[in-house]
Amino acid sequence: MNASALRFGTLLAALVVGGCRATPAPKPVAAPLVRPQPAPIGRSIVICGERHDIEAPVVLWTDKDGYDAYSTELRFPQTPPKEPIVGLRYQPGRRAPAESADKPGRLAALAGDPRCRDEVRALVDQFVVHYDVCGTSAQCFKVLHDRRKLSVHFMLDIDGVLYQTMDVSDTAWHASQANGRSIGIEIANIGAYKPDAATTLDEWYPRDEFGPRIALPAWMKDGGVRTPGFVGRPARPERIVGPIHGVDYAMHDLTPQQYETLGKLVAKLCEELPRIRPDAPRDAQGKVRTDALSPEEFAAFSGLVGHHHITVNKQDPGPAFDWERLLADVRARRKSAPAP
Ligand SMILES: [Zn+2]
Repeated sequence: MNASALRFGTLLAALVVGGCRATPAPKPVAAPLVRPQPAPIGRSIVICGERHDIEAPVVLWTDKDGYDAYSTELRFPQTPPKEPIVGLRYQPGRRAPAESADKPGRLAALAGDPRCRDEVRALVDQFVVHYDVCGTSAQCFKVLHDRRKLSVHFMLDIDGVLYQTMDVSDTAWHASQANGRSIGIEIANIGAYKPDAATTLDEWYPRDEFGPRIALPAWMKDGGVRTPGFVGRPARPERIVGPIHGVDYAMHDLTPQQYETLGKLVAKLCEELPRIRPDAPRDAQGKVRTDALSPEEFAAFSGLVGHHHITVNKQDPGPAFDWERLLADVRARRKSAPAP
């Protein structure tokens, strides 16, 4: 409705209410300030169809401009893959360990059923942390969904906006043997490189007077990042070098916005799904391990794991991922949370 129609409507309403009595002329309507705003953003994640507020920005797969792992359509049809990809990108439901892998899990028919949460609580005991090597969540979804026929429950963009692509009661395809028992997150970060071959990091993180900042390549434009004009900086300005599987890699840290949302998400998941313990695999000295777990250790571990804890072929979430910062934040949030 435009302004003159609105005024006409007001006048008409006044005439109807006031009958034929003389009515004062309607006050002039102030012209609205036209300011394009990003679409409204939620704050809740979804577990078995129920929303849980995490007090951080969340875009669901059902939201406009969200990323829907249930869809078998291309999310970015303007850039189709060379070979067509058909079929599901995920496994409906969760399987108990003894169930057959080629059938939907026992949770598949329980959406909206109160038993769903009990089942998820019984079957899910790991949270798997990945970096996406794509740089932004939009690019990550294009690669995972449109190109590789894979999925992940959450994507965390550089501005701290969390995207949930599917309910955690369904199984995402992100971490091989951990899929059935885990919830996965892909964190936007260009990844880790051998220290003497880190030109990607030089290009991705040019320095200005305040230190390194994320500079997306021109072809990505805004990279689908929802915060207009967002300037992303690593939480620690220095490039972090450290070993994964005994080999040194260099990497830049996540943004503070990513750590904040991640802490809130993990605290909520640990609360709702308490078999996910707020800790990561540690060595004899108490440090978070940088290698892979043995099959027996993997089977026995409940909590947060990096992709590299699951397979020797992966380095993510890399040496700059600050496990202790995240875990301390999660424990603090759990402590201050009101008792259930
Ligand atoms: Zn990974």
